[in-house]
Amino acid sequence: MKVPILYNSLTKKNEELQTKEPGKVRIYNCGPTVYKRQHVGNMRRYLFADFLRRSLEFFGYEVREITNITDVGHLTQDEIDAGEDKLEVEAKRQKKTPQDIAAEQTDLFLHDLQSLNIQPAHKYPKASEHIKQMLTLTEALLKKGHAYQTASGVYFDVTSFPAYGALSGNTLNNIAAGARVTVRSEKKHPADFALWKTDDPEHIQQWDSPWGRGYPGWHIECSAMSLEYLGSDIDIHTGGEDNRFPHHENEIAQSEGATGEPFVRVWMHNRHLLFSGKKLAKREGLQITLDTIRERGYSPLAFRFFVFSSHYRSPLEFSWEAMNAAEGKLNTFRHFLRRLMELPSTPPIGQQMRGSEALRKFAEALSQDLNTPRALAVVFDFIKQSNAALDASPDGETAGEIEATLKKIDSVLGIFEQLKEEIKTETIPLAVRNLARQREEARRAKNFEKADELRAAIEKEGYTLEDTSSGPRLAKQS
Ligand SMILES: [Zn+2]
Repeated sequence: MKVPILYNSLTKKNEELQTKEPGKVRIYNCGPTVYKRQHVGNMRRYLFADFLRRSLEFFGYEVREITNITDVGHLTQDEIDAGEDKLEVEAKRQKKTPQDIAAEQTDLFLHDLQSLNIQPAHKYPKASEHIKQMLTLTEALLKKGHAYQTASGVYFDVTSFPAYGALSGNTLNNIAAGARVTVRSEKKHPADFALWKTDDPEHIQQWDSPWGRGYPGWHIECSAMSLEYLGSDIDIHTGGEDNRFPHHENEIAQSEGATGEPFVRVWMHNRHLLFSGKKLAKREGLQITLDTIRERGYSPLAFRFFVFSSHYRSPLEFSWEAMNAAEGKLNTFRHFLRRLMELPSTPPIGQQMRGSEALRKFAEALSQDLNTPRALAVVFDFIKQSNAALDASPDGETAGEIEATLKKIDSVLGIFEQLKEEIKTETIPLAVRNLARQREEARRAKNFEKADELRAAIEKEGYTLEDTSSGPRLAKQS
């Protein structure tokens, strides 16, 4: 097993990963608030978490990964004072229930993860299904003197937690000096945050509690679900850089305050995707989803490649030129894979020699705080060497050795297998592929009657269509 070095946002140092249980890693990823479609900037976060998880598995760890779904109570402190919940605002705007919006958006989110070939987490717990756990934590915090009740709900008392600010640098002194939020009279400190809110009769989703009917604050859900599924002292917690404060700072205070045990060993935060290029205003950038990527003729895999080509702690600027470049690099992969697939590859016998040096360098790069750009350079070097090897001996044995190495690389990169599937369907007539595309659109729009008709049309042309975990797959009828 290879032990990686990871940058810990809490200690601000590169550290060798020391898991609680040897060989096992428990990861909690802060998931989406499902009130609108996730844009590509959001997707950078889940790709980063996927590269991390796949790398750890590549090193030999057994990984358990949880990504939560926020379907109630996403309130920032400012919004709490203004009494707004993102999901409820959107529900009112669309004249739908918050539950309907959340269900629609959760489906789209999971579908987007699949399009990017992100390994599914072991569980996607929903905040609305863990109210009981949140109430238990809130009770424990009250009992231990870390929380207090007011007319509007239950608040966490930040002054009761001396380590507050260790993650973000927003210590209580700094906050008091720079506080711009008007302090509501019942809050003892401007940084105190709601665990449970009881003063909004307009809020649609409400539950009974010992402090009256109400709904949870946002931060408490991650503490409750992390504890429920992974226990205390978990190995890694990830999120975007915007989660560091107040969200993660508050999670630490609540979790450690309630359990008296350490919450997380390594905190990892990815930098944002930037949309500040001349041709792409920030507002326009936040509208770009995987659908936009497809409409512009790019593959979601090109976006996966684009994110892999940059280090997660470096700013990454999104542009259509960059997507063009990524698609061009995918063509290099396609070209190489086609060449390999034309050879009758023989599985390598015994210890495979070709590629072992590339694999060693690939692992080394990933073990250095997930240096994906360096790992990618190793992949391109390997392709260059492999092309030369195939020029010299274009036989099945050479192809087999190369394929075995590519398969291991792809367990992290997550691109080659998908491209191979795509190449296999290239021989399928365009008309049939178009039918399959229309059928997928009908299926996603839940027009099942039309989807069935289109499937029948595909079968009439002599092809079968199978829905797999990585999307629909066409094959010639045997
Ligand atoms: Zn969270």
